[in-house]
Amino acid sequence: MFDRFVDFVREIYQTDTFIPLHEPRFAGNEKQYLLDVIDSTFVSSVGPYVSEFETKIGEYTGAKHAVATVNGTAALHIALLLAGVEPGDEVITQAVTFVATCNAIHYCGAEPVFVDIDAATLGLSPTALSNFLECYGERRDGGIYNKSSGKRIAACLPMHTFGHPCELTGLLKVCDGHGIPLVEDAAEALGSRLNGQHCGTFGKLGVLSFNGNKIITTGGGGMILTDDEDLARRAKHLTTTAKMPHAWKFAHDQIGYNYRMPNLNAALGLAQLEQLPSFVECKRALAERYRDWAQANGAHIFAEPTSAQSNYWLNALLLDDMQQRDAFLEYSNAQGVMTRPLWELMPDLPMYQHCQRDSLAQSRYLADRLVNVPSSVVL
Ligand SMILES: *Cc1c(COP(=O)(O)O)cnc(C)c1O
Repeated sequence: MFDRFVDFVREIYQTDTFIPLHEPRFAGNEKQYLLDVIDSTFVSSVGPYVSEFETKIGEYTGAKHAVATVNGTAALHIALLLAGVEPGDEVITQAVTFVATCNAIHYCGAEPVFVDIDAATLGLSPTALSNFLECYGERRDGGIYNKSSGKRIAACLPMHTFGHPCELTGLLKVCDGHGIPLVEDAAEALGSRLNGQHCGTFGKLGVLSFNGNKIITTGGGGMILTDDEDLARRAKHLTTTAKMPHAWKFAHDQIGYNYRMPNLNAALGLAQLEQLPSFVECKRALAERYRDWAQANGAHIFAEPTSAQSNYWLNALLLDDMQQRDAFLEYSNAQGVMTRPLWELMPDLPMYQHCQRDSLAQSRYLADRLVNVPSSVVL
């Protein structure tokens, strides 16, 4: 099966050289917009491309407000602060995620608590979340507290793994029932929808990333999505060093952050965004080819959950066990076809080892077996 897989990927990408997991594609107005920015001299965080990019992302996702940031991690940091996360709090998230999710929680002075995912979505499980809160949640002082740690549970931060939407309807129901704000890490999910609604627009706030390996890129960049006008205004204020608008005076009314996206990056982003619909189409077609191949070869590939329209940012094969996974990783990478296991589970990293978690049964099962395979856009 391994050699047939490598042949199949080479056939897709039509090359004998190294095939990366994901590479950006610049086939639109990128150079034109970038030259325009340089000629204008407005290369930094003031400039028309930033607001244009925000407006277009708002239109594409259906979010009322979009605030552009230097990267997705910074967007997560601000989104959590605005959701009300404070030092000493806890935030419930998944063990299966990129480390930025947990780091952003830590930047707020809070700690992650890890709850299991669903095998059908690869995202936070509403059942596991509900079970955790039934077991440890305690309502007092106008909030919900963790009986085991005594800390306040300030937010819930699910992540849409590889672009596949979590079961947001179920998660929202549990969060609303316990009075916990939901913030979506939709860093991988630009172009993904659940029942037609774009990921990142279900919670109080949502976050996108435009890092070089995401479905579209600004070099580095992120976005905070929200329907709440006041939260959007505060997001913009906090990410621009909390500078008070004034023609010449430099005054700040709180400790802010230098997190605003530069005009240069927004120009790249705008050109990329124009191509996003075709990228999503290509990626969905690629996922279908992988699915057909898997079916014909007795392999298992992860497919979008029902009622979801995934961007298929990264495709994932499900191997039989860890031994087969490691043999597959060894073989494909030696053949110049890049493949990668799931991230190390967050509570297995030294900085998050002490954090509370449930059984994480599904997370561990999948972490031992899932492998990402090349998923760049092919036309
Ligand atoms: C990419 C990513 C982020 C944000 O990353 P940046 O590189 O800071 O833009 C956050 N969470 C997840 C799950 C990601 O994949």
